Amino acid sequence: MNNHPSRALASEGMEGNHDGQADAELRAVIDEVRGWIAEAQRIVVLTGAGISTDSGIPDFRGPQGVWTKDPSAEKTATLAHYMGDPEVRRRSWRTRVDHPAWRAEPNPGHRALVELQARGTLDTLVTQNIDGLHQEAGVDPALVVEIHGTMREVVCMSCDERAPMERALARVQAGEEDPPCRSCGGILKSATISFGQNLVPEDLQRAAAAADRADMLLAVGTTLGVYPAANLVPIARVGGARIVIVNGSPTEMDHLADAVLRGSISTLLPALVG
Ligand SMILES: [Zn+2]
Repeated sequence: MNNHPSRALASEGMEGNHDGQADAELRAVIDEVRGWIAEAQRIVVLTGAGISTDSGIPDFRGPQGVWTKDPSAEKTATLAHYMGDPEVRRRSWRTRVDHPAWRAEPNPGHRALVELQARGTLDTLVTQNIDGLHQEAGVDPALVVEIHGTMREVVCMSCDERAPMERALARVQAGEEDPPCRSCGGILKSATISFGQNLVPEDLQRAAAAADRADMLLAVGTTLGVYPAANLVPIARVGGARIVIVNGSPTEMDHLADAVLRGSISTLLPALVG
């Protein structure tokens, strides 16, 4: 199945300001990929920060990225700093209270993926995002693997108890700068995977098994440079799946794709799936 030549096409033409030939070419690739998606039976979608930027959630390392603009903020995402330094935790809680994700809403890119679920062809949605917007858009939580965890819960680093993030944030807003676990007094952290923290093996196995059985892997909004998530692409390819990459910029795995569509994700995904 993988003898199609890989094609990279930019979608800026969709917003005009482009010559007609590029538009026609892009249109043709969109039509072809639409057909592939329509005939696929087991689609695995891998999403990264790029699908949520149109919901107002900045990515980390892009030009407007959180860590690009404030490199010291990366410390709050490193487990050893978080556990070892109360000031890092206090800062981290203040940032969480103001996080744009609490006001964010799913965009047309998120909603297009719900359409795959409605067709019954969405096997698994693996996301590197922690914002919960796929579930908010209507994807069945049972189909979602959040390999980097979720910011919508907190976890106690001593007793492993989990609780809704909003309760912890209410405590912060009521004056607790670094609220401890109510059960054991341990350090609370958002239920995300920090640097220096292992991913959850069951989640990784689930994602890899899905990629292996998929007949299409759609990678959206990720530069495919972070492992082990990026490994899903070669796993799916070896398993015989078609690979389609939709991203705003080139990715590390464009050479493995049957088609690469470059441009606005919230424009392209509805065109492919809507
Ligand atoms: Zn505890």
